[in-house]
Amino acid sequence: MQKIVDFIQSIYNTKEFLPLHEPRFIGNEKKYLNDCIDSTFVSSVGKYVDIFEKQFAKKVGAKYAIAVVNGTLALHIALLLANVKKDDEVITQALTFIATCNAINYCGAKPIFVDVDLDTLGLSPKALEKFLEKNCIIKDGKCINKTTNKIIKACVPMHTFGHPCKIDKIVKICKKWHIKVVEDSAESLGSYYKNKHTGVFGKLGTFSFNGNKIITSGGGGVIVTNDKKLAKKAKHLTTTAKIPHPWEYKHDMIGYNYRLVNLNAALLVAQLEQLNKFLKNKRELAQKYKKFFKEFDDITFIKEPKNSKSNYWLNGIIFKNQKQRDKFLEFSNKNGIMTRPIWTLMNKLDMFKDAQCGSLKNSKYLEKRVVNITSSVVI
Ligand SMILES: *Cc1c(COP(=O)(O)O)cnc(C)c1O
Repeated sequence: MQKIVDFIQSIYNTKEFLPLHEPRFIGNEKKYLNDCIDSTFVSSVGKYVDIFEKQFAKKVGAKYAIAVVNGTLALHIALLLANVKKDDEVITQALTFIATCNAINYCGAKPIFVDVDLDTLGLSPKALEKFLEKNCIIKDGKCINKTTNKIIKACVPMHTFGHPCKIDKIVKICKKWHIKVVEDSAESLGSYYKNKHTGVFGKLGTFSFNGNKIITSGGGGVIVTNDKKLAKKAKHLTTTAKIPHPWEYKHDMIGYNYRLVNLNAALLVAQLEQLNKFLKNKRELAQKYKKFFKEFDDITFIKEPKNSKSNYWLNGIIFKNQKQRDKFLEFSNKNGIMTRPIWTLMNKLDMFKDAQCGSLKNSKYLEKRVVNITSSVVI
């Protein structure tokens, strides 16, 4: 264990405390922020929001991008646009960050939890298909859950730690079952599956720019889609549903004030310029870890899955058992290296303890064994 701590400290060339994932502001951040302040356009109107949306859409290969205040609320709007309503159901993975499930609940819908694959840590197409075949029927072009008699409207796969899940298969299965796919790509900016960027396989995709993500605006998020109508609606819904007019205040529905402000967007434009540099740096770091952990029989380094290019947002290792994992968590955190276990399964949390679940064999296996280790860009 000391060996691991020494290795991480040698990579970052420090004996001081190392957070899990620190942001790096080594580009035009201050320049654009100052420009923003000098212009007085710090709030909901300003050029950086437009610049960011255009550049981001281009980066991921989507026709449209709509910037919002954070990744959770990007998911909220994407689910509303997927027509998720009160009393509907949404399938997602049990092994995910709480934001995915919170967003489902903001729509008044309930999550259903399905297993992940061991090689991707993301939603398993096999488990998804098995769940649907066992529990659902198609009636009037809708997927009906026979257990609850409710409609399953959407499916939210998540690309865990930036490793792409088998998203093409998931989209295919969902199409067959009349379920819309909203990709929670919060962690996977810069990750590709079969040479296509994550987030653009489903009807809608979302990303997060929280402080711990690969690029950050402090707080921020974005919705991407190729559907012009949905894009327009996303902008409308996130900007108080105001009908465009030179002076009148007229709103045609209950909207949200979810738009990203110009100050955050300025920071984000500067960060996006550095994405390729960050990706290269993180890939080199992952290669170092991969090589280092080869000499440990009882630890497996999590590598990018087949057919994928991962952004290696958060590096992870898998221990043989929970006892070893806990020992490492204790030792590393005591010795100035911040490490964290993977999330508690969603179905174990009080709010979701009654949720319907498929078999969660792999999720349970990983929950006990995975630890994230230092993943900041090395400078
Ligand atoms: C970070 C993250 C989000 C969104 O988080 P925000 O802090 O609201 O931007 C959503 N889902 C997953 C899986 C995440 O990791």
